[in-house]
Amino acid sequence: MEKRDIKSLTLEELQAEVVEMGEKKFRAGQLYQWMHQKLARDFDEMTNLSQKFREQLKEKYQYTDLELVDRLISKLDGTEKYLFRLADGNVIESVLMRYHHGNSVCISSQVGCRMGCRFCASTLGGLTRNLTPSEMLDQVYCIQRICGERISNLVVMGTGEPLDNYDHLLRFLRLLTDENGLHISQRNVTVSTCGIVEKMRSLAQEQLQITLALSLHASSQEKRKELMPVAYKYDLEEVLDACRYYFEKTGRRITFEYSLVGGVNDTQQDAQELARLVGDINCHVNLIPVNPIKERDYVESEQAAITAFKNKLEKYRINVTIRREMGRDINGACGQLRKSYIDAEERKQNV
Ligand code: SAH
Repeated sequence: MEKRDIKSLTLEELQAEVVEMGEKKFRAGQLYQWMHQKLARDFDEMTNLSQKFREQLKEKYQYTDLELVDRLISKLDGTEKYLFRLADGNVIESVLMRYHHGNSVCISSQVGCRMGCRFCASTLGGLTRNLTPSEMLDQVYCIQRICGERISNLVVMGTGEPLDNYDHLLRFLRLLTDENGLHISQRNVTVSTCGIVEKMRSLAQEQLQITLALSLHASSQEKRKELMPVAYKYDLEEVLDACRYYFEKTGRRITFEYSLVGGVNDTQQDAQELARLVGDINCHVNLIPVNPIKERDYVESEQAAITAFKNKLEKYRINVTIRREMGRDINGACGQLRKSYIDAEERKQNV
């Protein structure tokens, strides 16, 4: 029988399990604290639980942990990139970014991705599998343990489409923001999606105070299709309606991510169209100069075009920032570190 993944259980579920094993209910609280506050690496660290109980736990449950494969630290801004190996041998990447408002971790939600965005390195090898809630938590826990500093913010913007792994994502978010765990404030959490409409609407109803970021990247349906195959499934208007609905239900301002690609979506007309599209939505636009990947020939916009784009949006009173690039010297863009690792492993096998 496959062992249950203990770190993905809620406190209530854990209490029921512990009682069933013949232990007192408060033991669940201790166990939960070891896993989600003290960030224990295995059952043996849990010294206030009896040896016998720990042995029973080992028999019954799987205790996930990540193996650190590589850690790169940017000389430019202190950003850290982590490459981790999962129990089944797959590798994933996570990023630690240091801001004046606190430490933010960017996690992966899947091994690979099946969304196929044209400029993104994470999707080149397709989707391998979803990450479990515990594997998402482990990325935060491992980084906090390794860097020794508190993580206060979280973005789900690493490899994978979080809303394509909806149930695990939700469980992860509840555990991460639980007052008995690391208790990261929901307001400090952002989930980024390429725009899976039904799931955006479901998320709106979950009564969470997290920020939803939509990867927009184009100001017309036709252009969006060229960059993001998911646009063949959902019309731009439908996606924007789901954003309006999210704001209506949660009161949380929407973030629109717009990766500027030289000569593709960065003209003054694009900016004007964008202003028209999102003008009635309580939002913030985050412009991301595209980070070119070697498998595609997209180029970054000229600095002048980036500034002009921002100015145009501001003229229409749109809230806009240009994302500060972090960790460019360490393969900063989505999926590039993992991709270069996998490519190198394959080369080794072919010699
Ligand atoms: N699947 C989710 C989250 C992962 S990507 C989503 O689509 O939102 C996080 C953000 O980085 C997305 O906006 C994505 O489009 C963008 N991105 C991916 N590769 C990029 C690149 N090479 N340059 C700039 N932005 C990129």
